[in-house]
Amino acid sequence: MTISLWQRTPANEEITCEVAIVGAGITGLSAALELEAQGRSCVILEADWIGSKASGRNAGYLMRGGAENYALTADKIGREAAAFVWKWTEENLRGLKALGIESTPGYAARPSCLIATSEDEEAELRRAVAMMREDGFAAEIVEATDPPQDPIWWSGKPRLGLVNPHDAVCSPMELIDLLGAGLSSTPVFEQAEVYRMEQVDGRVCLRTKPITVHASRVLLCTNAYGAQLAPSLAEIITPHRGQMLAMKPKHASNARLEYSYYINRGSEYVRSAPNDQIIFGGARTYHAANEATANDDTTAEVQEHLESFVRELITDEYTITARWSGIMGFTPDGLPVIGAVPVNGIDDGKVWFCGGLTGHGMSMGYTTARHSVRVMLEDEHTRFSINRFD
Ligand SMILES: Cc1cc2nc3c(=O)[nH]c(=O)nc-3n(C[C@H](O)[C@H](O)[C@H](O)COP(=O)(O)OP(=O)(O)OC[C@H]3O[C@@H](n4cnc5c(N)ncnc54)[C@H](O)[C@@H]3O)c2cc1C
Repeated sequence: MTISLWQRTPANEEITCEVAIVGAGITGLSAALELEAQGRSCVILEADWIGSKASGRNAGYLMRGGAENYALTADKIGREAAAFVWKWTEENLRGLKALGIESTPGYAARPSCLIATSEDEEAELRRAVAMMREDGFAAEIVEATDPPQDPIWWSGKPRLGLVNPHDAVCSPMELIDLLGAGLSSTPVFEQAEVYRMEQVDGRVCLRTKPITVHASRVLLCTNAYGAQLAPSLAEIITPHRGQMLAMKPKHASNARLEYSYYINRGSEYVRSAPNDQIIFGGARTYHAANEATANDDTTAEVQEHLESFVRELITDEYTITARWSGIMGFTPDGLPVIGAVPVNGIDDGKVWFCGGLTGHGMSMGYTTARHSVRVMLEDEHTRFSINRFD
């Protein structure tokens, strides 16, 4: 955003703090919790409202693992690194449980199930299960010959399922509220889009319309919008739209799924939601060029595609209750990014970024953001360094 000469009235309030966080999604709120735990002063500046972007618009899977299954991840980044990511997401869920996520109304301990619909993917998932078990991770197989009662298996499409028995789901906004409620000393300013950062008297000065903040360090938790304030991020973080719908099947029994499903290598996902509803998301990979955008409108073509999956996999008797979309920040290797980013005129090392959670911010955002604060302030070693793309 730019601000015209006429809009540039002096901000009403000025605040000085150690760290200014930009963005009040899962990442920004979790980072603030870590800063408070360390006794440091911090402020959150949010362009819109808390949880207004991806963090409040996702499917609520608290799922072990990353964007790909264990076998594919190990092929890409190495087996030891894959095991690290899986443990990282387990730690994320443990952290959220310690915060109290289990007592939120939308939380349910519900296994996730990766479904193979092709021969290749079936072989991949069988290999993934074998590797996970060898590496000490619980994983079960559901055979199409002995399926659960969920309607998805009646379609004849699934050939096999890989079950993560200890996964869970939650309401994304309840998680956001839980994180926000954990803050005691951090002011969160909504409707405070940072439109400019500059260095003044050795501090970073962050300008928003209602407030000006002077901070020793800045942590950008702006996810898909990272490049707007730190242009070099455009090479690493790319925005991708994820569209979803919620529907109510005519027969409530069709809405009560035993597992949260992940289909077509995560391209589609479907799970039960409160009040006998089902949420269905994805179809992005079939419309990849259009969906590589930061515009969060829904489109008729993707929504119709999602409905065709609903008819094929659940039921053709339903009422749509909601349609929406959100913007994810993807990285080239599907893993988060933490590191200092250059911003014109500001000393190196003062502005940092944590983001690029590539569709898995619920599953790893809390741990990653808390870790990013320790990387920034205490030089903790990180596997998610931005320098890996140099
Ligand atoms: C449809 C969909 C389904 C998903 N499903 C799942 C799932 O089931 N499980 C899972 O683990 N992950 C899922 N994800 C991914 C997950 O939602 C994200 O990884 C996560 O929410 C990212 O959190 P964040 O805080 O980094 O970013 P965001 O929530 O996008 O927050 C960034 C914030 O920065 C603010 N901001 C940006 N620029 C500025 C500025 N200049 N000044 C002030 N504020 C600014 C924005 O307004 C925004 O509030 C899904 C995502 C989508 C879109």
